[in-house]
Amino acid sequence: MTDAEKSFKVVLLGEGCVGKTSIVLRYIQNTFNDKHLMTQHAGFFQKNINIGGKRVCLTIWDTAGQERFHALGPIYYRGSQGALVVYDITDNDSFIKAKNWIKELKTMLGNDISLCIIGNKCDLEKTRVISLAEAEAYAKSVGAIHYSTSAKLNKGVEDLFLDLTRRMMSNV
Ligand code: GDP
Ligand code: MG
Repeated sequence: MTDAEKSFKVVLLGEGCVGKTSIVLRYIQNTFNDKHLMTQHAGFFQKNINIGGKRVCLTIWDTAGQERFHALGPIYYRGSQGALVVYDITDNDSFIKAKNWIKELKTMLGNDISLCIIGNKCDLEKTRVISLAEAEAYAKSVGAIHYSTSAKLNKGVEDLFLDLTRRMMSNV
């Protein structure tokens, strides 16, 4: 399927509607849709990238909306080298949910995984309820990296995947 020298599994986690599918579609296809994309796109996506002269294959797992029924478990994230835990900067509950995911991942996978916490919808600055300072401080306290993204405006998405891939390659 691929002649990549390295391949990584990356999982998307987070409450429904925070923009997980939008982030992956922005990254893979450079598209954005205003509708909730849950049912149209479930499963995984692959992308080959070249980083520092090395060919890397990313397999990015997206949910089929099971997060709404609290039905996502270890089968989904087992064996992944990277996790993108997404919240919506305008939704406090989604930040609480993101923290719960981080706790579960750390309990189940220890330090074998690169953790990213992503504040999505940063185009909606006016209705932001989670401050960047609070989110960054939390990320630091759990050894994760925080990113701000807007899948809608294509902000931060490419950088996030590049940076994550670099971290997975050096296993930090
Ligand atoms: P998922 O359930 O986490 O996969 O979320 P979706 O990707 O289906 O997105 C849920 C809703 O949020 C959809 O209406 C998207 O158009 C919208 N959305 C996703 N990303 C952004 C963003 O960066 N900015 C804004 N304003 N809306 C977004
Ligand atoms: Mg989705």
